[in-house]
Amino acid sequence: MSLTIPIETSARHIHLAEEDFKTLFGPDGKLNYVKELSQPGQYACQERLAVVGPKGRFDSVVVLGPFRSHTQVEISVTDARKLGIPSVIRQSGDIADTPGCTLVGPCGSLELKRGVIVAKRHIHMAPLDAIRAHVRDNDIVFVITTSYERSLIFSDVVVRVSPSFRLAMHVDTDEANAFANDDNPTGVILKLFDGHTYNLQAWAEELQAGIHR
Ligand SMILES: [Zn+2]
Repeated sequence: MSLTIPIETSARHIHLAEEDFKTLFGPDGKLNYVKELSQPGQYACQERLAVVGPKGRFDSVVVLGPFRSHTQVEISVTDARKLGIPSVIRQSGDIADTPGCTLVGPCGSLELKRGVIVAKRHIHMAPLDAIRAHVRDNDIVFVITTSYERSLIFSDVVVRVSPSFRLAMHVDTDEANAFANDDNPTGVILKLFDGHTYNLQAWAEELQAGIHR
């Protein structure tokens, strides 16, 4: 039996380094817990910030806790277009050479030099799930979704395995809208190419070159 993976939508959000938090919310401010997220230890906060780019802004973007070593803003491709900044797809934490933005908080603002990413779609799973699904950390897989009328197969989905993860696939709002997801969408890892890690871009190039696997 295949592993049924709940698919969760990540709306735009911000992870803050503690020093950046102090610039934005004042030296005595602290993160105010509102609710737990699906990954253990991660939570939504009461704190909100404006994210400002050359072409537009979003007010009241949620801050997630706990603090991280580097501030990171996660948006969709549509959001990047509205802000007027390039959309750079990255795994969380990989922020070298990514665009910046301005963050505006109640006590100050911050010119972020880098850290705005469109999160690469990914699956969080515990080691036991990885064994059941026959995948390893950093594998790139296909996921077929359940949906009425607009089912799709996601490629380029990165698997992240850690004992601290709970099984969930994370997509952004653009990706969620693309398969018209209902309340509790799920997906299953699709084993193509004999289950080997494969990249849809490479497949598309091969098909265009007349190579059929
Ligand atoms: Zn995630």
